[in-house]
This record gives sequence, C-alpha cells and structure tokens, in this order.
Amino acid sequence: MYGAIKGDLVKQLQEIRDNGLYKDERVISSPQGAVITVTDGKQVLNFCANNYLGLANHPRVVEAAHQTLDRWGYGLSSVRFICGTLKIHKELERKVSEFLGMDDTLLYAACFDANGGVFEPFMNQESAIITDALNHASLIDGIRLAKAQRFIYQHADMHDLEAKLKEAASARYRLVVTDGVFSMDGDVAKLNDICALSEKYDALVLVDDSHATGFIGKTGRGTPEHCGVMGRIDLITTTFGKALGGAMGGCVSGRREMIEFLRQKSRPYLFSNTLAPAVVGATSAVLDMLSETTHLRDKLEKNTQYFREKMTAAGFDIKPGVHPIVPIMLYEEKLAHTMADELLKEGIYVIGFSYPVVPKGLARIRVQISAAHDAEHLDKSISAFTRVGKKLQILN
Ligand SMILES: *Cc1c(COP(=O)(O)O)cnc(C)c1O
Repeated sequence: MYGAIKGDLVKQLQEIRDNGLYKDERVISSPQGAVITVTDGKQVLNFCANNYLGLANHPRVVEAAHQTLDRWGYGLSSVRFICGTLKIHKELERKVSEFLGMDDTLLYAACFDANGGVFEPFMNQESAIITDALNHASLIDGIRLAKAQRFIYQHADMHDLEAKLKEAASARYRLVVTDGVFSMDGDVAKLNDICALSEKYDALVLVDDSHATGFIGKTGRGTPEHCGVMGRIDLITTTFGKALGGAMGGCVSGRREMIEFLRQKSRPYLFSNTLAPAVVGATSAVLDMLSETTHLRDKLEKNTQYFREKMTAAGFDIKPGVHPIVPIMLYEEKLAHTMADELLKEGIYVIGFSYPVVPKGLARIRVQISAAHDAEHLDKSISAFTRVGKKLQILN
C-alpha cells in the first residue's frame, strides 16, 4: 500500500532541493571523451571524468570488446563457481596479479562489490579494522558488514593511526585500510609510514587503488609503486571503471591464501553474476597496452604538471600534489557552483563540490586531467578559467 511513505518522500525530496543538494543527471549525447556533446547539441571539453588514460573509447579497447563479444557471447547467466568461469576470466585474473605484483586476483562486478566482500570473511569479532576517516563509501560499507571492532583514524594522521594500532593491540588480527588516492583532494596515502607502522604493530594493509591503478607510479602500478612499497601490501582493491577503460568491474588482488579464502567465502563474489565477457576482454587488452608502454601515463603526468603549473601561475589556489585530480579551491559554496556554471557557458565542463561532499567552507572545483586531453584542450581550459576567475573577482 503506497501511501504514507509517498508523502514523506515528497517532503524529503523537497528538503534536498531546498538545501541545494539535489543531484541532477546531465545527459550526454556522445560517447565519453575529451570532447563530449551535451543535450542542447553543444560540444564541451570534459574535465570531470575518471577517464584518466583516455581509454574509455580507445579504438583498441573497443575492438577488443567487439572481438570478445563475437567469440564468447554476451552473458554467462551464472555465478563464477557454477558455470560462469571462462578461460578469459582466469586470464584476466592472472594479468591483474602480474600487473599489480600480487599473488592472485578475484574479479567482482564492481570495486564497490569488492570492498563489500573483502572484510566480512576475514574480520570477525576478534579482529580490528583501522580505517582512514576519509575512506571511500564502499570501504565504509564493507567494514560495516564485518563483525570486527572498528577504529577510525584522522585522515592521513600517522600519530593517530599509531594510537589506534596500540588500542587494537589485543585483537587477534589488525587490518589497516586506506584509499591509495583520496578523491576530493587527490592526495596520496602515506603508504611508507602506513607499512612501517603496520609492520611494527603486526597489522595487515589493504589499499583501495581505484584512483591510481594504471597511471600512478613510474609504470602505472599504482600507489604502492609510487611510494616504493610494492610487496608490503597484503590486499589491493581496485576498479576497471576508471582509468582501465571505464566500463565496469573491479577486483581484490592479494596474498594467495587470502584470495583463495575469498573465493570460498566472499558474498558479492558467490551470489552475484559473472563479469560480462566483453568487459573482461577489453580490460585484458588495456592491461596489455599498459604493460607494453608507459606512453599514456607519461602523457597524463605531463598534462597534469602543465595544468597545475599554469593554473598556479594564473593565481588560482590549488591543492599541491601530483595527481590528475586538481582541486581549485574557492572555499565559498555558492562561488564554486557559479564558477562551474560560467565555465560550462565557456565550453568547459567541470563540477563544483561543496558540503557535505567536502567540509563546510572548503568548496572547490575538482578538475580531472586525462591523457585524452591535448595541449590545445588544456590551454582552452586554462584561459576560460582565467577569464571567469577575473569576472568573478577570484583573480585580480
Ligand atoms: C570509484 C571508487 C570505487 C567504486 O568503484 P566501482 O568499480 O565504480 O564500483 C571504490 N573505491 C574508490 C576509492 C573509488 O574511487
């Protein structure tokens, strides 16, 4: 009987609108890329996709998806352990393990599922999970599903992490959990310190490298490579839905027995359908491409440096860092949204982020650079930012 709840939902939806928190979905009428077409037919430069390596519509990736579709069909209509495992699933698991330098890998329909299924099997009442306050929503949810004690340390605060490790000393197992890169600031986790502390206090380490796999580190292996701690991380979760082609899918990669155990126990793996062949084939092709040459991540790095330098020189207040997530700090909520609107009029698609996604008074525009951007795209964006910045009196 759809009655009382309807009225309540209408009221709550209005509250969301009144608070300026209602999320409209922008409809795009072209494939994903550096240049996209928005509904009114206007072409804009896209600076807000997670398409870091520009692979979302790379011809070789699309071709691999076509070929896999033709060879292996559309769907599997089964979970992996009944009749859903193809040769190509095993191949992809091997390639991901090799790429990340881990023993073994388990595929999931999304990294959200990987994070939903990675804690509960290992971490019972006797265990402790020690987690960064700014970790991704899917890690938070996954940790909630486990019966372990939970310790939240202040974001990137190594003194607090150490304090929490001490508090958790009596637990049978300790697991430190962190995003490799945090999506609002683009800051990299201090994996060096995290590993050292975890070794000192006998803890395991899990890194969610969704915003890093494929492009952070000299050969794109992610934050463990960037920080020089490959081999010291026990579990990596990551997505195929960002740099690695951007369709969907995710995985947990890690120590042999841990992955073997997850294959027996992890609920989103056991009770959800097999990753579609076309996605498997295309992701596999992406890993081949990234293993052959670092050309794309090198271009992304160069683009990022260029954009960060020019925007800083123009007078913008940018959170320093190396990541293609470039937060342009505006502080005032309204200003961030006005600026994004003005930039769209100039043909630059970016998003303003404000409370509650970021703390009050720390509103910003989050620019995301891609290897798909050419010098001309970056220059257009920088000059549009500068024009709008002057108009809104952010710049002198
Ligand atoms: C995007 C993201 C996810 C979710 O990945 P999906 O594969 O889209 O479910 C999980 N963790 C982090 C840190 C992310 O940035």
